[in-house]
Amino acid sequence: MTHTTDGRRTAIVTGAARGIGAAVARRLAREGFAVGVVDLDEADCADTVEAVVGAGGSATAVAADVSDEAAVASAVARIAAELGPPTVLVNNAGIGPRAELVEMTTRQWDTVTGVNLRGPFLVTRAVCPHMIAAGWGRIVNMSSISAVGDAARVDYGSAKAGLIGFTKSLALQLGRHGITANAIAPGFVVSDMTRASARRLGRDFEEFRSSAARSIPVGRVGEPEDIAHTVSFLVSPDAGFVSGQVIYVAGGPVD
Ligand code: NAD
Repeated sequence: MTHTTDGRRTAIVTGAARGIGAAVARRLAREGFAVGVVDLDEADCADTVEAVVGAGGSATAVAADVSDEAAVASAVARIAAELGPPTVLVNNAGIGPRAELVEMTTRQWDTVTGVNLRGPFLVTRAVCPHMIAAGWGRIVNMSSISAVGDAARVDYGSAKAGLIGFTKSLALQLGRHGITANAIAPGFVVSDMTRASARRLGRDFEEFRSSAARSIPVGRVGEPEDIAHTVSFLVSPDAGFVSGQVIYVAGGPVD
């Protein structure tokens, strides 16, 4: 599923079929980026591609599991060939199932850290040569407030904390190429992920959401567009002196 490029800058957004990634893809398209929409299933990306094209943008949907090295390499190569070399990367794909530590299988640990931490490594490694060649790049990694600890998900909390270390290390290593790397750590954002959490806990989503809102200083939960707005700032030319940072987009401070 491809809509040809017209010379715009190219961004890759992983996990862009829905939720935060879809909002980021729509926002970047509005700002003139051609967008590589990466998710597990190409057909699931249709709504995002339609929104991008409807806004006058270009998009290519590519199916890839971000934890699969070969799939990532071919997805990035295809996007570069169809839309132009990517110089903006938003590592957004993530999963966050719950399990008590003593019941957590090794397979779950490997899958969760594979998608949330190995995935950003693989995609960044594949995209980075394009940024280095351009002498400019913007990497945004989607961490989480779970990076400071998550009682329900030790695998997810560990991966999201690892992603912050990855981000700071990228900022140190790649700054000389004109590349910045930053992390966004969202709090509660309305998406399929938080809907699934409510389901797993046997709670009605609206009740789950309003009870979360009561504990958030600004008195509401986040929307995907709140995160897209922050991505838009971080990838902008004017944010070139912001690198290696973690921006908590959580409606209040996070310890
Ligand atoms: P979501 O479940 O709505 O969307 C995640 C997307 O990632 C889905 O389209 C899914 O198919 C895709 N994905 C999952 N595994 C993948 C893989 N291996 N390869 C490629 N794509 C894959 O979730 P969301 O709430 O939009 O979350 C987006 C990011 O934000 C995730 O990294 C998540 O951990 C993070 N986050 C979300 C919240 C929240 O409250 N929703 C809070 C903090 C951080």
